[in-house]
Amino acid sequence: MTVNPVDWNIFSVKWFGKQWTVDLARKTCTCNKFQMDHYPCSHALAVAREQNLDFTSLCSDYYKRQTLIDAYSVLIMHVGNTSSWVVPSDIAERVVLNPKTKRQSGRPDRGSTCLVFREDNHQIV
Ligand SMILES: [Zn+2]
Repeated sequence: MTVNPVDWNIFSVKWFGKQWTVDLARKTCTCNKFQMDHYPCSHALAVAREQNLDFTSLCSDYYKRQTLIDAYSVLIMHVGNTSSWVVPSDIAERVVLNPKTKRQSGRPDRGSTCLVFREDNHQIV
């Protein structure tokens, strides 16, 4: 990929006749993946490499380890045995049915595995 500066923060990225514009300050790219995923697309990574930038500075804090640690750093109360729950009668009388979904036959796609907890349909694989 060929990277050319347009401005201090804006770069033009060209690859096989196609062109994208990356704005590092706004963390956007004309391919839309950068702003949609809050993670640098291949074009933003090309700019980061060209500018000798640490690409992790382009990632959202949501992808950072400390954010995950902070999310679970608060006290999480144990819910206890269901027999000890005090449930209002109007709630207890409600019937909740399973969602109407149809599971496709065959082995689940590996792409559906949760990358954070390495679970597949909440089963540790
Ligand atoms: Zn892009």
